[in-house]
Amino acid sequence: MLNKELEITLRKADEKQRKPKPDQNSLGFGKYFTDHMFVMQWNREKGWHEAEICPYHPFSLDPAAMVFHYGQEIFEGLKAYRGPDNQILLFRPLDNLNRMNKSALRMCMPPFPSDTVLKAMKALVYLDRDWVPANEGATLYLRPTMIATEPAIGLRTSEEYLFFIIMSPVGAYYAEGFNPVRIYVEDTYIRAVPGGVGEAKTGGNYAASLRAQNEAKKKGYAQVLWLDAVERKYVEEVGTSNIFFVIGDELITSPLTGSILPGVTRDSVLQLARDKGIKTVERRLSIDEVYQAHDSGALKEAFGTGTAAVISPVGELCYKDRVIGINNGKPGEMAAMFFNELQAIQRGQSEDRHNWLVRVG
Ligand SMILES: *Cc1c(COP(=O)(O)O)cnc(C)c1O
Repeated sequence: MLNKELEITLRKADEKQRKPKPDQNSLGFGKYFTDHMFVMQWNREKGWHEAEICPYHPFSLDPAAMVFHYGQEIFEGLKAYRGPDNQILLFRPLDNLNRMNKSALRMCMPPFPSDTVLKAMKALVYLDRDWVPANEGATLYLRPTMIATEPAIGLRTSEEYLFFIIMSPVGAYYAEGFNPVRIYVEDTYIRAVPGGVGEAKTGGNYAASLRAQNEAKKKGYAQVLWLDAVERKYVEEVGTSNIFFVIGDELITSPLTGSILPGVTRDSVLQLARDKGIKTVERRLSIDEVYQAHDSGALKEAFGTGTAAVISPVGELCYKDRVIGINNGKPGEMAAMFFNELQAIQRGQSEDRHNWLVRVG
């Protein structure tokens, strides 16, 4: 099925189906959706079929659709940026689609042809290009998703799937400045176990994280820092971002052990760091070591990496009631440098040395 080129049909929204554009200054995150979407279907007989760019619309699904019962669902998140001369740019979109295919494999969902879906994605963004915000820092967020749709409630792998891409104009993440966040080191709940589904972007991981997130919020923390599930000792991720620490002259992040989401931003930061001759280390780092590094003065910075915020500096950690400040609660030098460099590349304002950008249209 994968070698037969999939045909993509185009059905444009008519005047009545088009929505007014939201106020560019109060976009927030994921509240508004563009005029069009991409949809395709899968079944065993036809493989992927009925690929269509069409007006944004609600789905009608059978209440027995398997996604509602056993959570066979995967998704991705990436952004389109407005570059110089109003060019629309995608940042490493094939990395997201290839990662989604890995998530599909883990969740027993059918693989899709990444190149064809990239083509559809580009056509979709181009069609809704007026929705890509022009404001400094604002972007168009893309959400590719796949769900199991077969109406059957016996527990097994679904035989029917729906793939779609929706898009949402989102405001600048740091509308109030590039400010560090306070992070709660979670020692009760866990996110993912070795052999589990932590490295797949599948809905259940996020549903399972809400309780810890809510409790941390109540205590005044923005996010939780997840520790490994076995020893409750090693730092893994922060919220839906990967995490980096600068200790001495080393930039340290957790290795991809299977319980960590392999972030595209993580990979980009590691690459930029190597380009600059910064010593990068992917190794297990215990929370005790982080605290010891703080006490000895070796802990310089901590920051999260992810598509939504790009870089999110950490200003404070709380672990078992011991609170430490990092870099006096100010963004670190490396965090600021990676943030500026990545943003400049994503917006086509500096040289794209690694061919990360894909031009739309
Ligand atoms: C999406 C995600 C990330 C970040 O990945 P990016 O590709 O950099 O956006 C990190 N951790 C988790 C758990 C995620 O879901």
